[in-house]
Amino acid sequence: MSETTETIFSKIIRREIPVDIVYEDDLALAFKDIHPQAPVHILVIPKKPIPTLADAESQDHAVLGHLLLTAKRVAKEAGLENGYRVVINTGDDGGQTVYHLHLHILGGRQLSWPPG
Ligand code: 5GP
Repeated sequence: MSETTETIFSKIIRREIPVDIVYEDDLALAFKDIHPQAPVHILVIPKKPIPTLADAESQDHAVLGHLLLTAKRVAKEAGLENGYRVVINTGDDGGQTVYHLHLHILGGRQLSWPPG
């Protein structure tokens, strides 16, 4: 679908752009979104630059699972015991703007459904 290209998230992983990091390990990085859409808005990204969910392959199953478990972990650490939403915008129609796979964790208020 999309070529693997350098994005702003690659620069964030390399610490070339400062962000408020909430979690990091060998496979993943989690940091606060610069334009929060809820009181808690954290992005969880793989260090491997997979452009979109549609580009993920069977060999990525471990990192994909790890991203979800990381989302659970950072949501708990952010105090979202009343619930939260995990979103993966995918491609143009999905509203994706940064072509490095990322999970949005949104919480801290009642979220509406359906999204726009
Ligand atoms: P998308 O629209 O691709 O699903 O989400 C990209 C997200 O990345 C947006 O919510 C946007 O605010 C966030 N973002 C883009 N550039 C930066 C940045 O330089 N720092 C941080 N912390 N977030 C960013």
